[in-house]
Order: sequence, then C-alpha cells, then structure tokens
Amino acid sequence: MSNEATSVNPFETAKQQVDIVADLIGLDPGMRSVLKAPKRELTVNFPVRMDDGSYRVYTGYRVQYNMARGPTKGGIRYHPQVTLDEVRALAAWMTWKCSVVNIPYGGAKGGIICDPKHMSKGELERLTRRYASEIGPIIGPEMDIPAPDVYTDSQTMAWIMDTYSMQKGYSVPGVVTGKPISLGGSEGRGEATGRGCAYVIREAAKYSGLHMKGATVAVQGFGNAGSVASKILFDEQGAKIIAASDTKGGVLNPEGMNPHALEDHKQKTGSVVGFPGAKPITNEQLLETPCDVLIPAALENQITRKNADKIQAKLVAEAANGPTLPEADKILFERGITVLPDVLANAGGVTVSYFEWAQDIQGFFWSLEEVNRRLEQVMVRSYEDVHRIAKEKKVHNRTAAYVLGVQRVVDAIRLRGIYP
Ligand code: GLU
Repeated sequence: MSNEATSVNPFETAKQQVDIVADLIGLDPGMRSVLKAPKRELTVNFPVRMDDGSYRVYTGYRVQYNMARGPTKGGIRYHPQVTLDEVRALAAWMTWKCSVVNIPYGGAKGGIICDPKHMSKGELERLTRRYASEIGPIIGPEMDIPAPDVYTDSQTMAWIMDTYSMQKGYSVPGVVTGKPISLGGSEGRGEATGRGCAYVIREAAKYSGLHMKGATVAVQGFGNAGSVASKILFDEQGAKIIAASDTKGGVLNPEGMNPHALEDHKQKTGSVVGFPGAKPITNEQLLETPCDVLIPAALENQITRKNADKIQAKLVAEAANGPTLPEADKILFERGITVLPDVLANAGGVTVSYFEWAQDIQGFFWSLEEVNRRLEQVMVRSYEDVHRIAKEKKVHNRTAAYVLGVQRVVDAIRLRGIYP
C-alpha cells in the first residue's frame, strides 16, 4: 500500500460517505449524528500462550455499529494493521451492506491486531478461543453474529462456535456463519462473496454493453473473494483473467491465465508470483492495467486521488471493503468508469451468511442449487435497485447504494423511535 493509502483513516471515509448521502436525502443533524456513531464498541486485551511457552497480550475489537434493522452481522479480521477506526468503518459498511441487499441485520465487525501468517495453528486456535470468550457476552444468534473476513476462515468459525457452545452448555451453530458444512455451515457460503460479485458484474456489463465473453479482468488480491470471482467469470462468463496479485506481488499475461491453474500455483508456492508464462507486476501497476473489469479484492484505500486518473478499466467491482476513497469515486464517475461499490459487489458473502443463519435456526438445510438461486435473485434485484436510483438521481453507484441502504436504516430508526 502507498503512504497515502495507509495514512487515510477509513472511519473518516465512512463518515464522509454518510454526509454525502445525508445531504442528498436531506437528513436532519440529529439523524446524521446517529448514523455516524457506532452504537457499541468493545476492546479486549488478553493473553495467549505461545508455542515456546511464553505469553503475549493481544488486542481485539468488536464494534456493533447499528442494530435498528436486526441483530448485527459482520466478519472478524486478523491483521497486523487492524485499528479501532478501521473496525468502526467496516462495521458501518456492514450496516449499509445488509440494508442494500435487504437482509434483516444491522452491521458489526471485529478484528484482532496480530500477524496470522507468523503464528502456528495451535497459537491461532488459542488466540481465537480466548477472543471468542472475551467477546462472548455480546455475541449470539439473536444479538451479533460473526463470520470470516481477512485471514480468518471456516476453521476460525468452528473454534468460535465451539467456545461459545462450551460456555452455554449446548451447541449453538447460529452464533457464527461461514462454518464448515458439517457443523451447520451452508452450501455455497465459501464461494458466495466471489459468486455474488460475478453476478453483479454480469448485470452491470449487460447495462453498459460490455460483452463478458473475452472481456479482460484484473484482480488485486487473489484470496477467497478474488480467486472465486475470477474462476466464475472465467468458467461461466468466458472472461479472460489477464492480471492477478497478492501481498507478495502480481502477474500479468495479456493472453489470459487459467484461474484454476493460478490457484494451484498459489497453493503450492504461497503466491501468484512466478506463474508460468506471466510477467511480474506490482500491486500498483495492476490497478493501472488496461482491462475491461478491475476487481480490487484486497484491503481498503487502494484507489485514491493519485491513481484514479490512471485506472483504465470500464468497470470496477469492489470485492474488497472500502478500496476506493471518496475523491477517487468522483474522478472515476467523471471519467465514465462504472464502480460497483463494496456494499453491493461483495454483499454475496453476507447474503449467504443470512441463509446459513436461517438454516441453522430452522435446523433445515438447503441444496447448493437452492442457495445459489436465491443468491442470484438477491444480487440481481439489488443491482437493479441501485442502478435505478443512480439513473434517477444522476449519481454514481456508491451514492445510489447508500441512498438505498441508509434510507432503510433511517426508516427503521424512525419507526422504532428514540428510547425512552
Ligand atoms: N466479511 C464479509 C463481509 O465483509 C462477510 C460478513 C458476514 O458474512 O457476516 O461482508
């Protein structure tokens, strides 16, 4: 990440985005301040026993941003650069995201400052179980439901589910989503973020006259979301994956790369770097690669006012949360580049999380076809809603998505009234 990128506070961005939409839909100052304040925040400092017998104290957060529309929902990330303000921003974005796709949740997020790439499986398990127990009092199927995010996965969720269940004395599968299928996870959850993103790209391409067959795609962050989106665009829509990257660097091949082979290479070597037939590029160069579809699928603050002029894609689909800064949004809009904002483009993950939670609560499980069919319905409908508002109000898709998402939260707050 560039210096500018790391110096931008994501929560300032999140609040700025609320102000943009508040101006547009005419919200009073009271409602504005409600929307800009996280409802509940928990910071926990806790010791973890390391493999060498020493102890280390870790800091974790859980922020429940807004619960007007239902229990709060959102992932937990493990990353050395986690900050409370980042978690606040991510929790705010979850609030608008759940609302945009109209699932009955508020938004939350969690994070632990740690470097999971340099921890053993045992250390990660003890870290996860202790964190789960520290945030235990404020999570639960009716209260706040965590899920995977950056550098956490179905194993992490299994440990949280087990820790929570042990403390309750019975199994509570609905306390987290993104679990292994054998523990009450849902078919299709693992690939839902990437699949939802591919559906939204397909719909946007239709409206902008872009043929996905042969369309060139560059993916920043070949992780869970980025690799799955690439595979679906390649397998189901005939797109050509010309560039991909991860934390170690990127690769470019204008002739196209098979994303399945790229994934195998990454599994074997730990990175996409060195993929046969491709030439090396940096993460910054990847963003500026001429292509039809650019998928930022890594972290926040990647498209800034410094590089927005150099983006050469027709469509930017945000599989990551918060990759584009507000000033960059403006530049991309003026340049006629369509942005599919995070709260829409990566909402497939939380949508299937909702399906998983609903299945857990009913104890009745659906087939993969059923899950994907319902996911497709939600993504297509949400895309159409956002697209319609963007046309009507002559604004870019992020603002349109916020109009939809924020308005639903405002309606819920107004209907419930201010207590007491
Ligand atoms: N971490 C994912 C996101 O940012 C999924 C959250 C969830 O499924 O609750 O949307």
